[in-house]
Amino acid sequence: MPQASINKTASSRDIGIDLGTANTLVYARGHGIVLNEPSVVAVKAGTTAALAVGTEAKETIGRTPGSITAIRPLKDGVICDYEAAEEMIRHFVRKAVPGRRPRTRMVVCVPSGVTPVERRAIVHASTRAGARTVHLIEEPMAAAIGAGLPVSEPRGSMVVDIGGGTTEVAVISLGGIVTSRSLRVGGDRMDAAIMDFVRREHGLLVGERTAEDVKVAVGSAWPVPDRPELETLTFTVRGREKVGGMPQTLSLTAPDVRAALDEPVEAIVEAVRATLEDCPPELSGDVMEHGIVLTGGGALLPGLDLRLASATGIPVFVADDPLDCVALGSGKCVEDLDALALMGLGSPPGR
Ligand code: ADP
Ligand code: MG
Repeated sequence: MPQASINKTASSRDIGIDLGTANTLVYARGHGIVLNEPSVVAVKAGTTAALAVGTEAKETIGRTPGSITAIRPLKDGVICDYEAAEEMIRHFVRKAVPGRRPRTRMVVCVPSGVTPVERRAIVHASTRAGARTVHLIEEPMAAAIGAGLPVSEPRGSMVVDIGGGTTEVAVISLGGIVTSRSLRVGGDRMDAAIMDFVRREHGLLVGERTAEDVKVAVGSAWPVPDRPELETLTFTVRGREKVGGMPQTLSLTAPDVRAALDEPVEAIVEAVRATLEDCPPELSGDVMEHGIVLTGGGALLPGLDLRLASATGIPVFVADDPLDCVALGSGKCVEDLDALALMGLGSPPGR
């Protein structure tokens, strides 16, 4: 096949996908991020027929009648539902790249904890969704590239990507991951911690969506001196009494919510500490000097940077647009796909 003709037609059809546990983003070569939707599929109970995917499906979480189930195919950083994952990828690719997709090349970011079987499943699903070739890249690498870290230099960079289902901590140097950790603690565990707190302390049952709203509105990991107003925020939740079952409202304060979030936040702090301990001394010296960069939606939790800085003694920075970093990193690879292909990086394993 003449190479030039492929490149000509493929340029706008090459895409990068951030297959996140909470959100999927698609980057199209030459266009930037063209799709950003929750990683949710609504299916008819007992079947694999998808009724809705993405934003529309997320609206149904916690509100579905018995006949509809809302599935998050990657909930805990692993694919827990292959069919739903495949359906989701197909749907998003169709939406992002309308029309025929005969030569689409895809760069797909996967959590570093996925098994070889899951990697093959993602390649398979992407191929069925119309990919001619699929390159898998590890999420922390994409996050670091998207955050603008000098990944190819002989200098240690630390990135902490806090997603919905997982947190990935990695030290990168010379284009490779030197040491990393993937833990199944992220935004979802924070939401669960809020649900537990409200049930335990106030005898009230609230849903996942409500807990997430609380976290985003008044959550924090540490007091933020520049934003004293955060301390006085309150958020009123509606739920159902554990005893009695009547609908009830409750006002939560910011310090309450910080206390509720302590456990998952501390787990993230611990993972960062442990990764630093595993890091070769030269590279940890680089990290001490240049700081740690936070990406992913969890990076938006106020005070998380301050808490990590206080626990490690290292400066911590939140990346610009942390929710977009992985997709932008995959986008950089997409823009450079010819170079990536030449290097023989990412190939279609198991096809
Ligand atoms: P993933 O890569 O796993 O799809 P994302 O990086 O998209 O995850 O982040 C999604 C997570 O970030 C969700 O758990 C969401 O609740 C959380 N999140 C989004 N905005 C905020 C915020 N302002 N404060 C705290 N958490 C947030
Ligand atoms: Mg992510």
